[in-house]
Amino acid sequence: MAEPRVLVVGAGLSGALLARRLQDAGAQAVLIGTGADRPSGGYGDATAASGGLVRAFEPDPAARSLATASLAELLADPLLAEHAGWRETGSLYLLDTDDPGVPTGVEAAGVEVLAGQQVARRFGFDRLPERSVAVWERHAGYVVPDRLRRAVLRGLDNTEATPMARLDGDTVELRDGRRLTGDLVVVAAGAWTPGLLRAAGFATTLRTKHIQYAHYAVGRNALPCFVDETSGLYGRPAGAGRLLLGLPSRRWDVEPPTPEPDTELAERVLATALLRLPGLDPRPLAPPVSAVDCYSEPAGLALRAVAGTAHTFTFTGGSGGAAKTALAASRLAATALLNNRSAVNVPMG
Ligand SMILES: Cc1cc2nc3c(=O)[nH]c(=O)nc-3n(C[C@H](O)[C@H](O)[C@H](O)COP(=O)(O)OP(=O)(O)OC[C@H]3O[C@@H](n4cnc5c(N)ncnc54)[C@H](O)[C@@H]3O)c2cc1C
Repeated sequence: MAEPRVLVVGAGLSGALLARRLQDAGAQAVLIGTGADRPSGGYGDATAASGGLVRAFEPDPAARSLATASLAELLADPLLAEHAGWRETGSLYLLDTDDPGVPTGVEAAGVEVLAGQQVARRFGFDRLPERSVAVWERHAGYVVPDRLRRAVLRGLDNTEATPMARLDGDTVELRDGRRLTGDLVVVAAGAWTPGLLRAAGFATTLRTKHIQYAHYAVGRNALPCFVDETSGLYGRPAGAGRLLLGLPSRRWDVEPPTPEPDTELAERVLATALLRLPGLDPRPLAPPVSAVDCYSEPAGLALRAVAGTAHTFTFTGGSGGAAKTALAASRLAATALLNNRSAVNVPMG
């Protein structure tokens, strides 16, 4: 059987990688929305704003498996690592010992489970709860997702600059009135996806959520990437003596691409960071980065069938974490689309 023509809507990291995986598998993939006239007025999307933290460990086993496979692909391919702007800084993932996500059996080359006091001694974190425990991964760090997206776009044979105006059944109508048809349509439009589906009359459980971080001077180097589940604080090095720092936002159903910064959240980040990181300069170096991602339940970038259609899917739901899973998730999604397209067995979204 001839490989299908697949229309992929949205040129963020998810759509670009999915189109590339499909193309590599011999399908005709057309990536829609690669031009300058994006709804975000440029690349003002989650991929452009992303902090890019990547590691293998995640408390959730499904996310861990995708993150582990993605990191392995990155580490095995120096050209991919270069295209992604890979920086190996190490990664610390701190949890309370009572947390159900506390790891068992994650020890591998370059991976250690450390007690809270060891973390405090080795990395200078302050006032960690007594019962904290951390997964330390030496071969983890961060990428620049926007850079990886641009490299992937350069390798695509079929792109369509004009964005989609609307989804009409299994047909895509572009903003210039042209209509494109494919055997399959995948909406990979990140935080725009729920709105695009609803406008086309489809119900969806996908939602949007705000994400915000800012840069601070910390007065010392050599801090790794970290997630501290005991306080919510996450961060990564961002140049000499600088850290990117954030906390999860509580704002749901926010319009992309760039919501007003949340000053209350910025204050909470600072208060938490001053407890954990002695020597932090409380003045942010620039206004916060404020952006939106698409969230799913269960969380994670995955192919999901659109209820009520035979050939339409979404590939989104990164839930603030798809930079670290997109390599493996796009490979899985392409395989599912091509192998099982008469009966794709994927969850509804
Ligand atoms: C501030 C922030 C920090 C993050 N930090 C991390 C991190 O440290 N580690 C990590 O793993 N993950 C992180 N993430 C999450 C990760 O970056 C995202 O999950 C991922 O980039 C989502 O990519 P996407 O392609 O699904 O969506 P997007 O990057 O949002 O791309 C969607 C694209 O669809 C386009 N589009 C919309 N409507 C249309 C239309 N009608 N026609 C055509 N195109 C359309 C948009 O213009 C956009 O280019 C972060 C996210 C944010 C927002």
